[in-house]
Amino acid sequence: AKSDGKKRFRFYQPQLSERLQIKLENENALRLAIERDEFILHFQPRVNTATGEFCSMEALARWQHPVRGMVSPLEFIPVAEETGLILKLGELIIRKACAQLAQWKAEGLPALPTSVNVSSRQLNQGNLNTIIATALRDYAIDPAQIEIELTESCMMADTLEIAEELASFQELGIKLLVDDFGTGYSSLSQLQRLDLDVLKVDKAFTAELGVRAEGEVFFNAIVSMAHALHMTVVAEGVETVQQLQLLQALGCDEVQGYYISHPLPAAEIPGLMRRRYLF
Ligand code: C2E
Ligand code: CA
Ligand code: CA
Ligand code: CA
Repeated sequence: AKSDGKKRFRFYQPQLSERLQIKLENENALRLAIERDEFILHFQPRVNTATGEFCSMEALARWQHPVRGMVSPLEFIPVAEETGLILKLGELIIRKACAQLAQWKAEGLPALPTSVNVSSRQLNQGNLNTIIATALRDYAIDPAQIEIELTESCMMADTLEIAEELASFQELGIKLLVDDFGTGYSSLSQLQRLDLDVLKVDKAFTAELGVRAEGEVFFNAIVSMAHALHMTVVAEGVETVQQLQLLQALGCDEVQGYYISHPLPAAEIPGLMRRRYLF
């Protein structure tokens, strides 16, 4: 019986170690990519729904892999979060965003508010405030120009420390955005208590507009609630003119999506800033 047990153990072990090996390979690749500085940011405009004016933008991470080409954040962010490398990578992303804003400022371009995505792990670390404040100081960026996108899971951690950290960002003048709103578990009382600034409605809800009547009902309710809480509403994933027109009728404040602009390399942003109206 003992040797049977050993056999079974030896049968299962290679599978386990293979999974572990893949994980370690991913982790090593990511660590190396951070060392080699293979990450860049793309920027996607947000525009005023009524006027089409380019009013702000979102910074989105890209990994320029020497062999695989452009790797999606949907692939490497989860690995970064799992391994804890998101702390280093997240800091890098914040500093890259500030460096880019400083460059545009030096070129005399308008200082449009720019959001960066933050993982709950970065928030839980407790020093995000210092990381951001240092980056803002190093690149002489006005805190009002940087915004933080949090997912609802960031707000789920209902600890006093998180609430205080969020409040400390706002004391610096940094706006807080709720990303992918509607997909998570945030309660209305949490939204009110945390006094967040912007709701970004997940693209799944935008996709329902014009397809099912419930889509408009949902947006209508969100816009009323958000405005009652003095929050701005952004619709993500706007891909068609029909969606844009419905969002205009519903009083949604800002829109973001392929219909207006894909996320673009930094070099393509000044042209859009000069054009100013994107529809
Ligand atoms: P997200 O924060 O919800 O970002 C929006 C995603 O939707 C982006 O995907 C964007 O390219 C895509 N998108 C924009 N407009 C449209 C549209 O009209 N239709 C559709 N179908 N998609 C649209 P991307 O760039 O691949 O990023 C995926 C996710 O990776 C992001 O989702 C975010 O959660 C995460 N991510 C990206 N950059 C960072 C980062 O710097 N830090 C962290 N923690 N996460 C990041
Ligand atoms: Ca986002
Ligand atoms: Ca989103
Ligand atoms: Ca508020």
